[in-house]
Amino acid sequence: MIGYDLTGRTALVLGADAHAAAEVGALVDAGATVTVAAVRRQGLGEQQDTCAIVDDLAARGLVRVVDVSDADPSAFDVVVRPRGRRDAPLRSGPGRVTLVGGGPGDPGLLTLAGRAAIETADVVVADRLAPLAALRWAPEHAEVIDVGKIPGGRSTGQDEINRLLVDHAKAGKHVVRFKGGDSFVFGRGGEEAIACAGAGVEVTVVPGVSSSIAGPALAGVPVTHRGLVQGFTVVSGHVPPGHESSTLDYAALARLGTTIVVLMGVRTLPAICAELVRHGLTPTTPVTVVADASLPSQVRVRGTLETIDERLRTAQVGPPAIAVIGAVADLGGLP
Ligand code: SAH
Repeated sequence: MIGYDLTGRTALVLGADAHAAAEVGALVDAGATVTVAAVRRQGLGEQQDTCAIVDDLAARGLVRVVDVSDADPSAFDVVVRPRGRRDAPLRSGPGRVTLVGGGPGDPGLLTLAGRAAIETADVVVADRLAPLAALRWAPEHAEVIDVGKIPGGRSTGQDEINRLLVDHAKAGKHVVRFKGGDSFVFGRGGEEAIACAGAGVEVTVVPGVSSSIAGPALAGVPVTHRGLVQGFTVVSGHVPPGHESSTLDYAALARLGTTIVVLMGVRTLPAICAELVRHGLTPTTPVTVVADASLPSQVRVRGTLETIDERLRTAQVGPPAIAVIGAVADLGGLP
């Protein structure tokens, strides 16, 4: 989606900070096999200066991180040195915050309004699931702050993120809060909007293409289908059924007759499927799971409430992934 095809080519990115992450994302999107050369952080032993976004790509096997001293640029087809920062232009007047939903990962699925916001950003506060290649559209002076939240890994607390947004806006900056999908679908965008408004900071929302609909679509699954199902229900699988902080009524879900879309549910899917069967859904109800939707690493696994768990384990599917449960998951004639 960025205009070049690097399929089968090797690329080296010199640097692993949040600026480099933009180049890494673009190269992965272009089909290159990407190696990231990280610089060892002074005074912190063996720790390398990689941002959470690059760490996450490495954990998902999408890039390889090496120490800069082990990287021989002449061994690569393409070598990228992320551009340096320029000084910010002088601006007067109050700053503002734009909450941009970035879509499921492919920069081509970012809206035009989202791109326009990034093109005028002074500060971009980015999550790991945001389409990284789109960060290249930020002005050269823009500061990219990586607050990637990795399941079970390093993260920046929500209070800290809210504070970053408010403080930079109060310093007169245009702050883009950039995250995956739609900011208001399990994205905590509501909390950020309330925090900004409460601090007297102007906030605009640019809706995004939510992975809850785009993920199934990219796996060839329509969440509704005339004559088959008249609605869809999106739920979080962050906690399993019966967990003290679960508020979902699985008996009602099983009765609803809508497609059920589960986000954040790779770990809990076996328990969710079992609970839906316990409440009356037939064990042969089709289930499709799509991981890394819209990215070169996208995979789709099909099964039923009964078989999906084993199939996911065989295919070694990890997050981010979406499960679609219901007749649409197995429609004949789908791509
Ligand atoms: N605001 C986001 C959802 C954030 S919750 C949206 O509207 O899409 C994070 C969950 O979204 C992940 O655990 C996964 O279930 C889903 N997700 C996000 N991007 C995805 C992708 N590219 N492929 C599959 N699932 C994705």
